[in-house]
Amino acid sequence: TPVMRGRFGIVLGHCPESALAATAEKILKAAGQEAIETPKGAVHVTVSVGVVSFPGVVRTAHDVMNRAEDALAEAKGAGRNCFVAHTPTPSQRTNHALSMDVVKQVQAALRNDSLLLAYQPVVEARSRAVDHYECLMRMQAPDGSLIPAAHFIPVVEQMGLIKMIDRRALELAVEELDVNEGIHLAVNISGLTAGDRSWLQHLVALLRNRPEIAARLILEITETAALHEIEESAKLVARMRDLGCRVALDDFGAGHTSLRYIKFLNADSVKIDGYYVRNVSTSLDNQLFVRTLLGMARSFGLATVAECVETAEDADVLVRQGLDFLQGYYFGRPVTERPWRGAAEVALVAKG
Ligand code: C2E
Ligand code: CA
Ligand code: CA
Repeated sequence: TPVMRGRFGIVLGHCPESALAATAEKILKAAGQEAIETPKGAVHVTVSVGVVSFPGVVRTAHDVMNRAEDALAEAKGAGRNCFVAHTPTPSQRTNHALSMDVVKQVQAALRNDSLLLAYQPVVEARSRAVDHYECLMRMQAPDGSLIPAAHFIPVVEQMGLIKMIDRRALELAVEELDVNEGIHLAVNISGLTAGDRSWLQHLVALLRNRPEIAARLILEITETAALHEIEESAKLVARMRDLGCRVALDDFGAGHTSLRYIKFLNADSVKIDGYYVRNVSTSLDNQLFVRTLLGMARSFGLATVAECVETAEDADVLVRQGLDFLQGYYFGRPVTERPWRGAAEVALVAKG
């Protein structure tokens, strides 16, 4: 008898993990009950079901499909007409538990006001004068130590809390701009946040009747995330610029989509990803990459920033290549003390 195979995916919304077994049984029962009559005769159906519950230990769509496939293969191997639920590996369980710890820590930090900004200078390439500071989120741990963004932002993005972080970063930056007239600040926004209408409304509300503050605010959007919905993103960038802010495309060159991205998003500048900048003075490959990215940016009329400049040699090469702005440990590490405060006091003393 001929055998035909079909594969279906079913997504159950609002289905608690405890109800999965009963649901799978129902499907098995419905399919296996009796032969289906067709013009060519009766067809007997057997069903194998692979079950995975998400979000939980699995997070990305890719992950969900893979785990479901694994469970399905196991169900088939177990003789069909049965279901197998994916069981997380010990390492998945551990990762999940760690992520949940980070989420709890961040939620507590949001409540206790222990999220703060670190400021890193971005200098004009030739004069080396500070043009603006990038605001980088830091979390104060209960023991007083500062946790860098790299340690919690990726988890927070996956777990859906990033909008709250970005909101806080924006509020803190606008407060600083408000009380320090001379400074310009750049704030990072996750592409997930950028696509969110309520965030835009928040930005509009914060900057209403304050064009003087908007003019000193730069919004850094990450390429990969921003490209998700290019038309929406383009509208959003236009909206931010209408408000008077400048927009920088972050991590330029890190994704595979730089050309489309740069063409459709009408930004002011690009930040060449640190991956190509580090060791540029000794790596011919990196020199080639930087030159190419720079050429692309220029042909679209965008200013260029190199991040992660760590040595004098790298800085020299980048100046020679024609970068407009430089940023990195060589010019200053991110610090939570306001770096412009000291400078202002010195100026006051000098004035007498
Ligand atoms: P990014 O925007 O690409 O920021 C640059 C990262 O490189 C920062 O790490 C910075 O501290 C670090 N860095 C700066 N200069 C150098 C250097 O010379 N060498 C090296 N090796 N590293 C350097 P950080 O602060 O841990 O932030 C990591 C990422 O987290 C940022 O990457 C940004 O994408 C994200 N992030 C930070 N604050 C926020 C925020 O408020 N909202 C969102 N959505 N993302 C944020
Ligand atoms: Ca950035
Ligand atoms: Ca970057």
